[in-house]
Amino acid sequence: MLYLDNSATTQIHPEVKDAMLPYLMEEYGNPSSKYYAPAENAKRAVKEARNALASLMGCKENEVLFTSGSTESNNMIIKGVADHYSEKGNHIITTKVEHPSVLETCQYLETKGYDVTYLDVDRFGRIDILDLQKQITEKTILVSVIWGNNELGSLNDMDAISNICLENNVFLHTDATQVVSKIEMDLFNYPGITFLSCSAHKFHGPKGIGAAFIKNDEYELPTKITPLLHGGGQENGFRSGTLAVHNIVGLGKASEIANKNLAENINNLKELEGHLIGLLKEKFRDQIQINSDNTEKIPGIVSVQFKGVNNELLVKNLAPIIAASTGSACSSSKPSHVLAAVGLSIDEVRSTIRFSLSCFIKKEDLDIFKEL
Ligand code: PMP
Repeated sequence: MLYLDNSATTQIHPEVKDAMLPYLMEEYGNPSSKYYAPAENAKRAVKEARNALASLMGCKENEVLFTSGSTESNNMIIKGVADHYSEKGNHIITTKVEHPSVLETCQYLETKGYDVTYLDVDRFGRIDILDLQKQITEKTILVSVIWGNNELGSLNDMDAISNICLENNVFLHTDATQVVSKIEMDLFNYPGITFLSCSAHKFHGPKGIGAAFIKNDEYELPTKITPLLHGGGQENGFRSGTLAVHNIVGLGKASEIANKNLAENINNLKELEGHLIGLLKEKFRDQIQINSDNTEKIPGIVSVQFKGVNNELLVKNLAPIIAASTGSACSSSKPSHVLAAVGLSIDEVRSTIRFSLSCFIKKEDLDIFKEL
């Protein structure tokens, strides 16, 4: 079976598995303990992993906090900001095409008296910068905008969004789950981004581990938010609990590999994407319509309509030979809110499937499409 659902999750890189194994076996020390070798080894391994992710994202080591993944980071940051700054304001701005872990967190906050603006998007899922500027008021405490869309791959203009939030002195959070390891990302160049979320399993790391970037303030102290988990004070006091060292080591190794191969992977994914689109067009001609834009996008995500075909049935029938999806794995039972927000009709939404590629795929593997 050809696995083309890499936006849902990816296979673990063999070197990631090898790096993790000792921390499931002999290196079982608690990194919060001291002096004896297993504790110090675990502490060192966690530090190295933090450093590797910080290098990949272009931030300081102590700005990286480990969480169980993007769902948790999104919840922690949005609820943490809302709670800590509730006296400053009660207005949050987000978009109509966020992942459910952002959208439903915002909807929950609405039930607690917060006011949320859901920005419209263009036909590829990008927000309008002027619209964002217009919606910011003196009550706005947070802007949360997805960096790269998980269904269409479109990238938002994060440079402009970061500048607007900086100029207006408003915190900016971005869900970067789909872009870490797929674009050059140097957070030092985006001074307006205060918070970011990511998950290791989207870039060949293990599941159940991810990170929140929480920027240091002008005194080099972490920007304050209400902690997610109170307790032993791990992760700068934001998320207490014994660290999952084996998973953190896996995330670190995946980050190191992604960083080393970044340019090559981006080119490889672009080439694979071009080849896939070429094959689809040759085979299906006017029976298909590509929903994704062809510039300013995450390489390797292709959203395509198979006109007149039910997407659920298509994905099911393809399953023995090709793994694809109708959209986000987290909302696969409902028609996509992302595709509806970009203006597709319900018939167009119901005939769309997403292929997402990885650097483990070879060009020849895609020739399977010729045989469909
Ligand atoms: N945000 C985006 C954009 C995603 O694609 C995903 C994963 N589908 C998540 C958040 C949630 O990630 P996780 O399931 O690893 O918590």
